[in-house]
Amino acid sequence: MRKGKILLLAMLFLVSVVSLSYGKRIFVTIGTGGVTGVYYPTGGAISKMVNKKYKEYGIKATVESTGGSVYNINAVLSGDLDFGICQSDRQYEAWHGLAEWKDKGPQKNLRSVFSIHPESITLIASVDSGIKSVADLKGKRVNLGNPGSGQLQNSKDVLAAFGISLKDIHPEYVKAVEAPGLLQDGRIDAFFYTVGHPNGNIKEATSGRIKVRIIPITGPAVDKLLKKHPYYAKAQILVKKFYPMAANKQDAVSTVGVKATLVTSAKEPANVVYAITKEVFDNFEAFKKLHPAYAVLTKQNMLQGLTAPIHPGALKYYKESGLIKYIPKSLIK
Ligand code: GLU
Repeated sequence: MRKGKILLLAMLFLVSVVSLSYGKRIFVTIGTGGVTGVYYPTGGAISKMVNKKYKEYGIKATVESTGGSVYNINAVLSGDLDFGICQSDRQYEAWHGLAEWKDKGPQKNLRSVFSIHPESITLIASVDSGIKSVADLKGKRVNLGNPGSGQLQNSKDVLAAFGISLKDIHPEYVKAVEAPGLLQDGRIDAFFYTVGHPNGNIKEATSGRIKVRIIPITGPAVDKLLKKHPYYAKAQILVKKFYPMAANKQDAVSTVGVKATLVTSAKEPANVVYAITKEVFDNFEAFKKLHPAYAVLTKQNMLQGLTAPIHPGALKYYKESGLIKYIPKSLIK
């Protein structure tokens, strides 16, 4: 009799342990950007890779549309998001406690996971506005970007480099997702968007009734800008290939670029960061097919452009896979 009871108890215990481990789902949220940008589908692509292995990891990753880079960094650090996509330049500023983080100081809990696609500062204007260069923005209605976005500081940097103050223009601060509509309605003359190409936003802006063109950001002012900020680099937007409806005659437009990067907090569990890193890199060719902006990706360049130390969970994978040789020593803590 007693033996039977013990056996029953032991069985009940086993059943509950087994069902607990099966039922233990780990919910992970990835902060992205506006739905017409590249961050949003990128969050989807990363989630897809790890969710495929749900049985193995128990991870269910979901994507959140957010205000962009600055919002994502802050939300990752406050624990509101597990992961966030952010521009390499904003990652640099957050880590060093500069620009948007000047009052708060260096964000020492920020951790890098990997870099993703290149992004370029894209200035787009209606043909009717007569804007052909950054200097022509004076007196015009220009959307600089919403607070929380990466482009807000980029557009301010570009204007400053060209000696244009906010008083010289009529600045707007709306989300990128709304900008193509405003441009097409004639309610703004131009907008800035730091984004990977091709994307739905610039497609929408270039395919409406009003003719628009992508404006080059080049010249001595830009050379000075590149010297001042180490994270900016020269870039090209393949306008003919990606946006054939734009009024540009040239195949490519010169501008300034950064990189999209994936960040998390030092507090994020190592097994979660490991799983995401492993699934993206182990299935690299499948991942690359998920967005045309990934065409230029290599495993090596996905480890460049980072400032915050690599999260231990990601580092574990880079050690196992031998990719660690591409990582600067300063990022290994
Ligand atoms: N670079 C933009 C930002 O940081 C977002 C671009 C995108 O959503 O693809 O706000």
